[in-house]
Amino acid sequence: MGAAGWHQDPRPLLRPAPDLDLAALDRGATPGWDAGKDAAEEYVVERGRLLSELQERLFADGRTGGRRAVLLVVQGLDTAGKGGIVRHVIGMVDPQGVALRAFGVPTAEERRHHYLWRVRRALPGPGLIGVFDRSHYEDVLVARVEGLVKEWVWSRRYAEINRFEREIVDGGTTVVKVALLVSRDEQGVRLMERLDRPDKRWKWNPGDVDTRAKWDAYQQAYADVFTHTSTDAAPWHVVPADKKWYARLAVTELLTQALVDLDLDWPRPSWRLETQKHRLAATMSAGALATAERKAAEKLPEVARAEAEFDEAVAAAADVGGDDGGGSGRPAGWA
Ligand code: AMP
Ligand code: MG
Repeated sequence: MGAAGWHQDPRPLLRPAPDLDLAALDRGATPGWDAGKDAAEEYVVERGRLLSELQERLFADGRTGGRRAVLLVVQGLDTAGKGGIVRHVIGMVDPQGVALRAFGVPTAEERRHHYLWRVRRALPGPGLIGVFDRSHYEDVLVARVEGLVKEWVWSRRYAEINRFEREIVDGGTTVVKVALLVSRDEQGVRLMERLDRPDKRWKWNPGDVDTRAKWDAYQQAYADVFTHTSTDAAPWHVVPADKKWYARLAVTELLTQALVDLDLDWPRPSWRLETQKHRLAATMSAGALATAERKAAEKLPEVARAEAEFDEAVAAAADVGGDDGGGSGRPAGWA
């Protein structure tokens, strides 16, 4: 990486502490990052290259019998920047390897099923990065605050969600959960922008003001989500989101690290290279063979260089947060 970087590993830093006080959290903070916006944007571009290469390896793994996948769960109130994460972070990787699902008000068919039914169906298959824009957490957030179900119903869901996620993780999917937290003021500004700007007005929903009016209830519901469902198998990351560049930086890093942890390599072929080269060569003209050889000679050094750079970037990513011993992050808090 260049000079600017994380001074603390955002993974432990953004995990909700047991005594997390949401009311006291500075949503304009940039925990773990002091280098400012421009440096963050540069860093994201660089990370994007690594992320994209990692994603390609994950995809290849899935195509050759691997079972692994990654699921990014993005939660947040209106205007928290969920769509921006999809566009700016997920937009850096090959769409072919992405399974994106936005969860809205359940359809008539979805309502006939258990609330996890639609979620199970949207889980990423092997080799894919799944992205949930909202998720099963709405069933303990909006469902609770709006009183769509009784307390004895939603209060049992935390344990059920933990079991569900444990099952997903045991099946080979890394679950990365991020909650984007905007301040009430910033939400007001962003909502007003939706009304003011003709190019944003389509996002306006009159109900957004009613939801906003229940701010405290939503904060409480989020706090309980963090208390009850931040497990070792699938921990939460509480991301301050008043600065969009920070939220994108943080999610980019969390996702990249999740892929780095998979320790992905290109799949090992089940056939012998020499045998297959002979077979193919036997079908080619001398001219075409010479062309292929020339291309290989031209391209291979470049490929080797890129692979070496990739290996270096992966190794460097492993000790994000600098040389202060690592793992030194305090959980959120963010002080
Ligand atoms: P948006 O993400 O702005 O397109 O809006 C989606 C809407 O669907 C939000 O108002 C969510 O609260 C709502 N929604 C998502 N999941 C559920 C759910 N399980 N039950 C009720 N409403 C939901
Ligand atoms: Mg909306």
